Amino acid sequence: MQTLTTSDMQELVELAVKLVQTPSVSGQESAVAQLLAAAMKRHGFHDVWTDRMGNVIGRYGAGRGPRLLFDGHMDTIDVGDRGAWSRDPFAGVVEDGILYGRGAADMKAALAAMIFGVKLLAESGTQLGGDLFVAFVVQEEPCEGMAAQVLCEEEGLAPDFVVLGEPTNLAIALGQRGRIELDVTVHGRSGHAAAPQQAVNAINAAARLIFGIELLQPSLLTDPVLGQGTIAVTHISSTAGSRNAIPDRCDLVVDRRLTLGETEARAVNELQQISRREGLHADIATTEITVQTYTGFVRRVRKYYPPWLMPEKSPLVRAAVRAVERSLGYSPRLTTWQFSTDGAYTLGTAGIPTIGFGPGDERHVHTVNEQVVLADVTRAARVYAQLAQELLPA
Ligand SMILES: [Zn+2]
Repeated sequence: MQTLTTSDMQELVELAVKLVQTPSVSGQESAVAQLLAAAMKRHGFHDVWTDRMGNVIGRYGAGRGPRLLFDGHMDTIDVGDRGAWSRDPFAGVVEDGILYGRGAADMKAALAAMIFGVKLLAESGTQLGGDLFVAFVVQEEPCEGMAAQVLCEEEGLAPDFVVLGEPTNLAIALGQRGRIELDVTVHGRSGHAAAPQQAVNAINAAARLIFGIELLQPSLLTDPVLGQGTIAVTHISSTAGSRNAIPDRCDLVVDRRLTLGETEARAVNELQQISRREGLHADIATTEITVQTYTGFVRRVRKYYPPWLMPEKSPLVRAAVRAVERSLGYSPRLTTWQFSTDGAYTLGTAGIPTIGFGPGDERHVHTVNEQVVLADVTRAARVYAQLAQELLPA
């Protein structure tokens, strides 16, 4: 079992602070990517490169054998109302062993911890029986799984195991509900508002769909671990020739959280059934967006992120429990995330065994006064080093 020296710990904290001080809102990860690549080169990785999408990847290992991927995202959401922060979100303020700022918990501290996990392996001369890849990806916040998919399917990473560094408060995350975003267009027939009976009001039609959606909630599937699926209308707009005309079109956005067993086809079909029952004319489709990364790489993305859950008894979960026990001396809690992660692709789509482990608390994610306990960042680094040895024994 390796431990960090005092100067290592200092350096790790300095890196975490520097990462928070380097803004990296989704699409603007260039500066933070350079910082991370330089740190990886300094701290013992065998190879470090940046792919065409702008993801930064480091490799440590034998150059053959099984492949373990540590995955973290470089991007953050915006700071929102700066005045609501008690400390400057980009100053990298440290008080009483806590680092404050945007990205502290989600998930720059974990990126620093992953690098220092490899530094521990390198400094102790630890050989692995396979390759550890540490990948820091772009644009996870707007479209989780997009970069992970490119890495696995197009950049040739093809890992056998994935560890996500999203915040778990040093527990082991086994899964998350998935989600799908749906665009619904309800069509009507325009007419003068003075003679509504001669037209079909798209807003009235959409209202029938919305009530149907509310009635759907109790019948959505429930998983004993991940909980129940949910459905919510999150946006509505309509078009009409004037304020005195009957709207011929009403657009809705539907946010559907998917538990195990719920698929895109099922979610779309549920809405189609309501539409048919109510005699509506509606188009229902998964939202699609075009994403451009800081390198100019462009990708069309469908906003469908499947749910996933690792069995407690799986070798990966057991190895992670062992790694925490051996490096920190206690048995970690097993948990699931409320939010969605790259696991939607790695396990949800690709079926690659995936877990989460990282410093930081889920309740500080995407909030003002985001923070991470620095002692947990060094603990995480030790666990990452141990986990690589558990999963890739020489
Ligand atoms: Zn995150």
